[in-house]
Parts: sequence; C-alpha cells; structure tokens
Amino acid sequence: MPSSRILPEFELLLPESVAEAVKLLKKYKDKATVMAGGTDVIVSGTQGFATPYVISLAKVSELDYVKFSKSGGLRIGALATLQNVADTKEVKANYPALYKSAAINGTPQTRNMGTVVGNVMRASPSGDCACALLALDAKIVFQGPRGKREVAIDDFFIDYKKTDRKDDELAVEIKVPAPKKGVVSAFNRITRTTLDLSKVNAAVCLTVEKGVCKSVRIAMGAVAPKTIRLFESENLLKGQKISPSILEAISASIGGQLSPIDDVRSTAEYRRDVSAVLVRRTIEEAIA
Ligand SMILES: Cc1cc2nc3c(=O)[nH]c(=O)nc-3n(C[C@H](O)[C@H](O)[C@H](O)COP(=O)(O)OP(=O)(O)OC[C@H]3O[C@@H](n4cnc5c(N)ncnc54)[C@H](O)[C@@H]3O)c2cc1C
Repeated sequence: MPSSRILPEFELLLPESVAEAVKLLKKYKDKATVMAGGTDVIVSGTQGFATPYVISLAKVSELDYVKFSKSGGLRIGALATLQNVADTKEVKANYPALYKSAAINGTPQTRNMGTVVGNVMRASPSGDCACALLALDAKIVFQGPRGKREVAIDDFFIDYKKTDRKDDELAVEIKVPAPKKGVVSAFNRITRTTLDLSKVNAAVCLTVEKGVCKSVRIAMGAVAPKTIRLFESENLLKGQKISPSILEAISASIGGQLSPIDDVRSTAEYRRDVSAVLVRRTIEEAIA
C-alpha cells in the first residue's frame, strides 16, 4: 500500500528550454510526468500515481508569461501561475470568467504555485479554470517532436482524465480569443468550504446585442466524467431575447444534460438540482 505521506522515488529532470523539455518527453514518453506548479503532481505522487521521471518546468523561464493584446487576445504561458493570471488587469477587464476561476482557486499558496495550464492539463472534471476556458473557447498549443499543434479546448477533454494530449507533447500555452464587442462572461462555483474543489461549477460566455443573445457557450464541471458544454441549453438561448421565461426554460433543460455522481463532495441529486440554479445565476451575472 502506498503511504499517504511518502513520495515514491523518481528522477527529477530540470530542462532549461522548451526544446530540452520536448527532447526529454520524446525519450521518456509515458514514463515521464510533466510538472508545472506541482500542486497536483506531488499530491498524486503521495497517492501512488508516480512515473520514474518527473520533468519540472521550473527553469523553463520562456514559458513564464501572460500576454494580452486587443487584436490578438490572451496568451497564457505554461508557467504562469493562477495568481499571475488573476493579477493581470486585462484578464479581469476582458475575461471575468477566467479571472474569477483563477482568483478563487484553492489557497494563496496553491495559487502562487499552481498554473492555469496545469489546471487544464490535469483534466479533472471539477477544474475551475478548465470550465471557464471551455466557455471562453480557448485553444491549447502543444510542442512536440513533430512540431507545434493547436487544439480547440472543445476537442481536448475526451473522458474522465483522458485528453487529446500525446505522451511526448508539452503544452506550451493557452490562447483565448480577443474580446469582441458585446461579449460578456461569468464563472461561479459551489464548494463545501472556500478552500475545497468544486462540487459543481459553471461558466458562460455570451454575445448580447440589444438584449438578444447572438452567441453563447455554457460550460459545467463536476457534473459528468469531463468538463462539458450544455449544447441543448445553448440552442435554447441563441437568437432569443434574454427574459425571465427563457432563463426558466434554460434551467429546466439542464438536468437532462448531466450525468453527475455521488462522491465525498456531494450527491448526484444535489449536483443536478443546484446546476439549474447555478447556470441561471451565472447568465444573469454575465449580462448584469
Ligand atoms: C490544496 C489544494 C487546493 C486546490 N484547489 C483547487 C481549486 O479550488 N480548483 C481547481 O480547479 N483546482 C484546485 N486544486 C488542484 C490544482 O492545484 C490546480 O488544478 C492547479 O491549477 C494545477 O496546476 P499545477 O501547475 O500545480 O499542475 P501540476 O501539478 O504541475 O500538473 C497537473 C497535471 O497537468 C500536467 N501538466 C502540467 N503542466 C503541463 C504542461 N505544460 N504540459 C503537459 N502537461 C502538463 C501534469 O503532468 C499533471 O498531470 C487544488 C489543489 C490543492 C493541493
């Protein structure tokens, strides 16, 4: 039985560039775990999920950035911490859903170590930034032995902790589209305590013109084996004037799109019931 305190032995590799990190991934493939902030890798290690090699990105300083331009949008390097992202004023101004998902994530300690890219790569169905970035239509940029590859976040989450990442690929950055006129977003979650992982989370991103919803993406976490979009609810809202009756119809449509489970954080029944309220509130917050 693995101990809950002692890390299994592994060899720590410390590349100093993306090229070096990719070389190591090419050599060790699934025998190596990439580590950014390590807030998940180290916890998983104490639970027995360890590989013989850990490739730490700590010295790959070229990945430590958050960049924003009005025309190009947001680019988050693989070493940018949750706190770096929450502290970037353009994130707060243009991507409120992402801002909140980073700013409330874990504790000050984990926000100063954990990364936004790590939050997505971890592919936990309850990941907070993962949910916000799914609503915001983000893209993930990978670098591997065959060169660069860009994956839409819609295609990234495949099943429970199963993603489109190949064993020899490093996620180098996440891109979020440039903010367009009329685009609003919001994120909300429900937890047992403020420091806990989400029981349920929801994020929305809408384009509203004269009160009419022109485009919409609704994402939810911890209600299925992976972070999901609520396509049926999106179809109800798109093209409609946002009114109390349409919001009621959306709330009623939500339960049937979820496949929640009972676990230590909540019950399937609670998750299903509260989701209808959470999504409605998140839409209302976004358009307020
Ligand atoms: C006390 C505590 C509280 C937490 N609270 C929250 C919370 O409120 N909300 C939440 O969503 N999560 C929470 N977490 C989970 C975790 O801290 C976050 O998801 C964090 O963002 C993970 O980032 P990291 O850089 O530490 O990832 P790491 O631990 O370094 O990596 C996580 C996973 O992603 C992979 N990975 C990381 N970077 C790359 C890369 N560049 N390329 C390829 N693969 C990569 C790793 O191999 C690993 O599988 C919490 C964790 C702890 C310990």
